[in-house]
Amino acid sequence: MFEKLNLIDPILKALQAEGYINPTPIQEQAIPVLLQRKDLLGCAQTGTGKTAAFSIPMLQLLHQDELYKKEPAGIKALVLTPTRELAIQIGESIQAYGKLLRIKHTVIFGGVSQKPQTDALRAGVDILVATPGRLLDLMDQRYIKLDRLKMFVLDEADRMLDMGFIHDVKKIISRIPAKRQTIFFSATMPPEISALANTILTNPVRVEVTPVSSTANTVKQEIYFVDKANKRHLLLHLLKTNNINTALVFTRTKHGADRVAKDLNRAGIMAEAIHGNKSQNARQRALSNFKEQKTRVLVATDIAARGIDIDELSHVINFELPNVPETYVHRIGRTGRAGASGSSISFCDTEEKAYLKDIQKLIGKSVPVATDNPFPMNANGVVAQPAHKPVQQPQQKQRKDFRKGKSSHTASKKPNSGNASRKSGRDWLSMPREQNY
Ligand code: AMP
Repeated sequence: MFEKLNLIDPILKALQAEGYINPTPIQEQAIPVLLQRKDLLGCAQTGTGKTAAFSIPMLQLLHQDELYKKEPAGIKALVLTPTRELAIQIGESIQAYGKLLRIKHTVIFGGVSQKPQTDALRAGVDILVATPGRLLDLMDQRYIKLDRLKMFVLDEADRMLDMGFIHDVKKIISRIPAKRQTIFFSATMPPEISALANTILTNPVRVEVTPVSSTANTVKQEIYFVDKANKRHLLLHLLKTNNINTALVFTRTKHGADRVAKDLNRAGIMAEAIHGNKSQNARQRALSNFKEQKTRVLVATDIAARGIDIDELSHVINFELPNVPETYVHRIGRTGRAGASGSSISFCDTEEKAYLKDIQKLIGKSVPVATDNPFPMNANGVVAQPAHKPVQQPQQKQRKDFRKGKSSHTASKKPNSGNASRKSGRDWLSMPREQNY
């Protein structure tokens, strides 16, 4: 219950309007810590509710400061995030949770005209959500001053590193007041990120949810051992016979994604590919077509698919297994969200068996082998085996609790309500346009 977290009434009401019933584990852990103005190191990925985990206490603290201290105008909180899609999503969350408060926020990111952004800044904001490049740009042009900053959130720090923004991030940090509350989120903690966290956080409380190695229990996993050349036939067969309405299909390469989409279209199944060779617009369009079920199959590379958040995605198909085992967990985590049941189907050819071994080691169980394989592998005599008994069940209790709340949230959602439209607005492709994967 959110009531137990000492939240003020206008926030509780806003959360109720959003249909949130229970806090997610990260919210339960982070909100009390942040309300005490402590620094926080959060290990959590998208989908855990981390945006609300920092936005809610931020709104509450700023509101209380405003109420009791009558502070001078100026930006009080900065949220730095790697992509414009994430920035927009965070802005929408702040808007939703703070709709009954008088805290002003704005969102700035690159790739668009700066005029509307500088106009909004001039009108005065309390919370600024920004991507690093545009923020530095506007700071250099003196549109932005951060000398009144009290709270700083670094979101998706590991992706900042992946995308080559870490230098910009460090530059920004060097220009904000040292006395501040710092909130640091990262899905993974590579050494460089850990070192950065150590330098910018003061006695942080560490919170961690759903380690990457635990795959959701609600996702049914299956593996098909199949020769490379038969994968396309198997995919068609499954799409035709297995009651799969829509599926997100993963390939390792851009070229592979195009080829799979082309094959499917040729066979009369509407499919589109998204990857870094396509423009942001083309990717957004493909994603909307998929969400509106104009296309049945979306074929994606891992990086293009990062951050895709589709409610009620029933099937993820790994046309090719990823060579990094964590990627498998990320992929299948796209389904079975919001309390819905999900299915993940993986194709494994001879060359990919080593990847499968790594995956099974990471998730701590063997992926059951499909029993209905019409294209069993011939290459070295491997044929379909009956399902294995999992060797170990991942611990998912906390996540299940969240799902309960989330499913009621979904159930209470009216079509075309403000909430529904906001939700659809938060499905995005998290990739900067200029990057080419
Ligand atoms: P995030 O991890 O911040 O990207 O959030 C993932 C999704 O969960 C978003 O669509 C949120 O609107 C939703 N969400 C966040 N907190 C809750 C909650 N306590 N109950 C239900 N849904 C939530």
